[in-house]
Amino acid sequence: MNIPEQETLLINFLTDAELAEWKTYFSSRLPDLRLAAWDDVSVDPLSVRYVLVWEPEAGQLARFPHLRVILSEAAGVDHLLSDSTLPPDIPITRMVTPETAARMADYVTMASYMLVRRLPEIIQAQRHKRWAAHLAGGLASETAVGILGLGRLGTAVAQRLLANGFTVNGWSRSAKTVPGVVGFYGAKGLSPFLTRSQIMVNLLPDTAETRGIINDDFLAQLPDGAGIINVGRGHQLQHDALLRALDRGRVSGAVLDVFPQEPLPEDDPLWCHPGVIVTSHVASLISHQSKAQHALTIIQADRAGQALPLVFNRTLGY
Ligand code: NDP
Repeated sequence: MNIPEQETLLINFLTDAELAEWKTYFSSRLPDLRLAAWDDVSVDPLSVRYVLVWEPEAGQLARFPHLRVILSEAAGVDHLLSDSTLPPDIPITRMVTPETAARMADYVTMASYMLVRRLPEIIQAQRHKRWAAHLAGGLASETAVGILGLGRLGTAVAQRLLANGFTVNGWSRSAKTVPGVVGFYGAKGLSPFLTRSQIMVNLLPDTAETRGIINDDFLAQLPDGAGIINVGRGHQLQHDALLRALDRGRVSGAVLDVFPQEPLPEDDPLWCHPGVIVTSHVASLISHQSKAQHALTIIQADRAGQALPLVFNRTLGY
């Protein structure tokens, strides 16, 4: 079988204007690479070397016999792994750019302040036209935030929270040193981490080990009246356990960006719970410019035979 010389990057979910933006960016940097939208029927499947995808239909990626790299459009790749025909030897790269980290740090800092300053309760008071001068809240400098998952994003978030005066604890699978952060790791480190984290931020990847990790027992170990921020993945937080903890006052408020089912179903009790703020998986949506820069770095590294950055580790699951 002849392999066409023309190499194609197929990109998912693009408007014509966005594709034009991508083409302009690549035209001066990799002029020989053809860029095409995912549904462009004129593309020869044999020419496809790179794909940038979020959640392609199962079986679609197996159509490209000369595929060299699968670029995930997100930091997590859980959306790709349910495809049983996923080519087993093709590297999958995660999309984590400086903009991803900056946006995540912005979001978690905002959410931490919202919880410190009791914003869920303030919003309820306003809805009911109730003057609530007792809702003054606490101080960042007197609040300890615990970050579950001290990886690329967890570290960026920790640095931003430290700069804002919070005390920061981190929990990871292996020991990590991040200046200013009190580090805990492994199963043994979890309890001491939880007991001293007044706000708990979940930034773990979705793996067999982390799914359902935030359960009744986990929440019971947090200080009374703790706050929860979930920006990792929806399946890691057991919603029944969260609702029980909120209703008992064990947890005072939660800011949730990710859910087991997205969009969050209309009848889900989280939508209207007075202690919960729901956002629509927007914590770290990045620009096309940032995605294109990332894709260029990966493709250039692949063409130069260099190690690819941000490769998903299929053994570890993240
Ligand atoms: P990384 O792979 O860089 O970091 C993952 C961290 O989790 C590491 O510190 C790792 O430990 C730790 N970890 C993994 N498994 C376990 C475990 N079983 N026990 C304890 N710690 C564990 O990932 P990123 O920081 O780039 O991204 C994290 C996640 O954030 C993504 O997988 C994605 O789900 C989510 N995300 C959400 C977004 C949103 O908009 N809401 C946007 C972007 C990402 P170790 O350091 O020892 O390996």
